Amino acid sequence: MNNSQPLLALVVPCYNEQEVILESLSALRALLKTMMSQKQISSNSYIVLVDDGSTDNTYSLLQTRRDKNTRIIKLAHNVGHQAALLAGLHYVTDKVDCCISIDADLQDDIEVMSEMVRHFCNGKQIVYGVRSNRDSDTLFKKGTASLFYQLMQQMGVPIIDNHADFRLVSNTVLKEFSKYKEVNLFLRGIFPQMGYPSSSVTYSRKKRNGGESKYPLWKMMKLAANGITSFTNYPLKIITNVGMIVFAGSLLAALWVVYVVIADKNVPGWASITLPIYFLGGIQLLSLGIIGEYISRIYLETKQRPFYHIEEIVE
Ligand code: UDP
Ligand code: MG
Repeated sequence: MNNSQPLLALVVPCYNEQEVILESLSALRALLKTMMSQKQISSNSYIVLVDDGSTDNTYSLLQTRRDKNTRIIKLAHNVGHQAALLAGLHYVTDKVDCCISIDADLQDDIEVMSEMVRHFCNGKQIVYGVRSNRDSDTLFKKGTASLFYQLMQQMGVPIIDNHADFRLVSNTVLKEFSKYKEVNLFLRGIFPQMGYPSSSVTYSRKKRNGGESKYPLWKMMKLAANGITSFTNYPLKIITNVGMIVFAGSLLAALWVVYVVIADKNVPGWASITLPIYFLGGIQLLSLGIIGEYISRIYLETKQRPFYHIEEIVE
């Protein structure tokens, strides 16, 4: 491994990014060139663009800009940000000294990449890009994001505050990472729990240059559900605890019923019958739903299907 001038790959998942992709590519190339001329990275460093089954012109635009420091991986169909990123990470494993993953819209500040590489040269295996602000986000996204991070941390999932998927990982980490075969990979949780020496660099996140977010609410919720179920069975514990509390409550209620009958204060009423039925019915359905989520994930894991299908690699 060459730590003084490491071979760096930038991994960029792209899905319907025709509005921004060429601009982003030029910016990334310019940055790589500067880092090369400053002898910070090897001149063989390159950019890996993973086209996640785009339905617009992203892929054909990329093909017009081929050069020796660019690789394009075309996936056969859209598999989502995490799996597309994974395709890129798998591709660069054992080909580089380190890689940095970054979104195609360059909302993350590419200027901190050279700082990330410096941390790597000083022995860090993982360097997290951490956003110092969320000014570019809507109030709703800010709220849901902070709720998500808090919830995850509370459930014991090792997740870095305000860090998404902008990070540097060394090849050592990539090689170990390739041992993870689970289908529900939640990258933001996996890397921190691997336990390698790590550090972070902070930056302020910008607004999207063009196009729109590919993370609508339902995708964010899916990501959150994946993160939780792939890392912790805390929700199942909550169910057990709620079950115990309700059971204890019903024992107390039984005592009360006995008292009422003995004391001859028995007044027939519907509320005392119907309320518990709805209450318990609700809890039972919710519990079944949560258990079902876990079972569906076991089902997916046992199938061991591949995460993505590569249609073409342009080198
Ligand atoms: N992306 C992808 N596949 C998808 C959705 C998104 O590869 O199905 C890519 C997208 O092109 C971008 C990154 O994932 O490079 C993050 O998406 P986006 O910027 O829309 O998310 P946000 O910044 O709004 O959270
Ligand atoms: Mg974005």
